[in-house]
Amino acid sequence: MPDEGPDRSAAGRPPPHRGTQASFPVLSESLSDKAIRPASWLDRFGTLVTVGEQHHDSTTTGRAMEGFEPTEEVRRLRDRVRRFVDEEVVPVERGLLLATGTLEELMASAKAQGLWALGHPSTMGGGGLSLLAYVYINEVIGRSLPAEVALGTHTLQDALMLERYASEEQRRRWLAPLVEGTVYASIGMTEPEVAGSDPKLMRSTATPDGEGWVIDGHKWFVRWADRAAVITVLAKTDPTARLHRQYSAFLVPTDAPGYTVERLLSVMGDEQGSYGEIRLHRVPVSADQMLGERGDGFAIAQARLQPKRVFDCMRWLGQAERAFELMCARANERYAHGSLLREKGEIQRNVAESAAQIHAARLMVLDTARRIDVGKDARVETSLITFSTARMLHDVLDRAIQIHGAAGVSDDLPLEAMYRAARSARIYDGPDEVHRMLAARELLDDLERHTPWS
Ligand SMILES: Cc1cc2nc3c(=O)[nH]c(=O)nc-3n(C[C@H](O)[C@H](O)[C@H](O)COP(=O)(O)OP(=O)(O)OC[C@H]3O[C@@H](n4cnc5c(N)ncnc54)[C@H](O)[C@@H]3O)c2cc1C
Repeated sequence: MPDEGPDRSAAGRPPPHRGTQASFPVLSESLSDKAIRPASWLDRFGTLVTVGEQHHDSTTTGRAMEGFEPTEEVRRLRDRVRRFVDEEVVPVERGLLLATGTLEELMASAKAQGLWALGHPSTMGGGGLSLLAYVYINEVIGRSLPAEVALGTHTLQDALMLERYASEEQRRRWLAPLVEGTVYASIGMTEPEVAGSDPKLMRSTATPDGEGWVIDGHKWFVRWADRAAVITVLAKTDPTARLHRQYSAFLVPTDAPGYTVERLLSVMGDEQGSYGEIRLHRVPVSADQMLGERGDGFAIAQARLQPKRVFDCMRWLGQAERAFELMCARANERYAHGSLLREKGEIQRNVAESAAQIHAARLMVLDTARRIDVGKDARVETSLITFSTARMLHDVLDRAIQIHGAAGVSDDLPLEAMYRAARSARIYDGPDEVHRMLAARELLDDLERHTPWS
């Protein structure tokens, strides 16, 4: 049975929207330096999320396309999630993450309907979907920017990181409340003074102090800075160690003495996250607040950032699909210069180019998820989908806005907010250029091994 994508039946299609989003530095050497590429991260990622169905024979090469068909169970689940997003989240999506009350009601509703944290491993109380199955679900979650929070999926990357690296005590304190959605968590890597895309330049330090450490640092673009209970802070602990063992990660509660949010940044008017500039001035942390081992900082960051990139790509598909639906509806109804817009070659080109880009990105994301599920190396694929899906999203939104004329840039439609988020998407999971560099290096080193189609 061919994949039908989101429900396209007349009944399942939402009315056109009438009214009214990691994040993260790329480790530049990550594809070439085995020291920060723990052989097990992909396995671990795959193991953690492959709790439900096994879609593919692990004896296959993991490269060749075999067709992507959600099982009936996944299809039904996807339909339920789509109904939740379209009927409960979309009508109240504007400013939702900034308001209090409505979001909490939506979270409770998602839990009551069994739609909460579907991508989290079942060992954490999540849905236990395979990564491939999660593409279909997260795709429809992506249709509305705040739906990832309403459905409890925004914590998955932190949860996977904690599952792998946290001590029993750290898990007890942070993991369960995180999955439950009662606390927010974030990561503090990027620093104003140095290039975030090259984390070995980070200047924040953690200095031994008695039994513990004292952190001094300056970070910015920390998501949820105004509401996170805990930030994973990357700081230099071993300046004389080999480069990729110089940094460690610490779980820093945001009420720690010396921890200050200096300001919240306005990011293209983004309503979906609160990005903060934070200062750490002689913040005392005990030895058991270190996550993992001393020097594990980059490996821990990767364990969070790589999965996050794949999750983001899934949601970007849903954003683009919704924008495409609006684009087509407009082409079918707007009349100018003697015909409907749908009759015009330029408009037809925009529709066809958008469909081709979405379809190609979707197959790449599905294939990357499948590779990770079967424990295959997907670092090149992850870089490829990160920059190309972000670019696709940006292009599709640009066209969808253009076809709506002035209405497209107004907040009567969701497109302008989606467009602003899409512009950031080409930076926050690592700038496009860095992902192209990382993928190209691997491809140039060993074409046979790294081309996705070989
Ligand atoms: C919305 C949003 C949310 C974010 N959330 C977080 C968060 O929660 N926690 C956190 O720590 N950080 C976060 N960030 C920061 C993000 O990870 C960094 O912005 C990103 O890693 C790039 O770092 P930089 O901004 O310092 O840009 P730089 O590293 O200074 O890069 C600037 C530009 O230089 C060019 N460039 C860089 N390297 C190369 C290269 N090798 N080849 C060619 N050109 C290159 C690119 O054009 C790039 O865009 C967020 C950012 C945004 C926009």
